[in-house]
Amino acid sequence: MKLSLVVPCYNEAENVEAFQEATIKAFENCGYQYEIVFIDDGSKDATMHNLRKLHQKQKCPVKVISFSRNFGKEAGIYAGLSQTCGDYVCIIDADLQQRPEIARQMVQILDEHEEYDMVAAYQDRRGESKVLSFFKRRFYSIINKMAKVDVKSDASDFRTFRRSVANSILELTEYHRFSKGIFAWVGFNTCFIPYVACERVAGKSKWNFRSLANYAIDGIIGYSTKPLRFATFLGGFTSFASMIYLIIVVLQKLISGIDIPGYATIIVLILLLGGIQLLCIGIIGEYVGRTFEQSKTAPSILQKKFWIINNLKSDTRVSDFSFL
Ligand code: UDP
Ligand code: MG
Repeated sequence: MKLSLVVPCYNEAENVEAFQEATIKAFENCGYQYEIVFIDDGSKDATMHNLRKLHQKQKCPVKVISFSRNFGKEAGIYAGLSQTCGDYVCIIDADLQQRPEIARQMVQILDEHEEYDMVAAYQDRRGESKVLSFFKRRFYSIINKMAKVDVKSDASDFRTFRRSVANSILELTEYHRFSKGIFAWVGFNTCFIPYVACERVAGKSKWNFRSLANYAIDGIIGYSTKPLRFATFLGGFTSFASMIYLIIVVLQKLISGIDIPGYATIIVLILLLGGIQLLCIGIIGEYVGRTFEQSKTAPSILQKKFWIINNLKSDTRVSDFSFL
């Protein structure tokens, strides 16, 4: 098998068949074998029903993984990767915003350029809303300043890479997965190509401002300890400023006999210091929380149970799969 396409799907009932058709068309006469690994990420619509049909027909080799609930795209990518057998692996969305034709081009680039291990598409943002573009740019500049890895601006998860890269990614078993960071962390020679995201064929985006903000925090906390350093500096600075203020107050009292400033000052200081303390505890808490979750390597949490459909005629078979 030359290529495995990993396709995470969450409520993509109307898209999965169209995706398969578009893929078959895009890879017509390509002269090599490819498979599609769909991951149903606990969809609430008919996605699983439709995937089952695609699996039964096997118009092209199709594997289906079904999660028992929604675990998120990152978990889907990991599970999908673990089931691939291609020499190359392509991660691509189900909604056809990322065209399979580009995936074919990526394979061609890898074939022709041995020096590259991965071809990644980055989004050409012309035409995107200015507000969203602004926040995305800020995010990339913050993460690149903070993190120890270099995350390419606008690089998406839409990429194709060699088996060696897939194996390296599978070795990273962190609980809070942030694939942009993971791709940057594993390294390898990457060729970046631009692409323009098409309109969704059907359904709507699963991302909103809140989930994007959470994703950004996962990225920053997962790849940098600089927020902890920031908390230390903030604490040091406020302690220093308080000491100065204390000296000023004492001197004022001793030299000029001025009364200790009143209620308002005290309340403001208490609130300010309380706020700073809570902020720092929050930052530390983020890291402690992640350490806690990562330390729970007990099977109950990390061995998520999912179904792998591997029987054409009858029903599904449950597989206990060592996951994450
Ligand atoms: N997705 C998923 N699990 C989720 C959310 C999204 O598997 O919890 C899949 C989704 O079905 C799609 C891909 O991830 O194939 C990208 O999602 P979406 O199109 O909503 O993101 P956008 O293109 O808006 O960034
Ligand atoms: Mg999309």
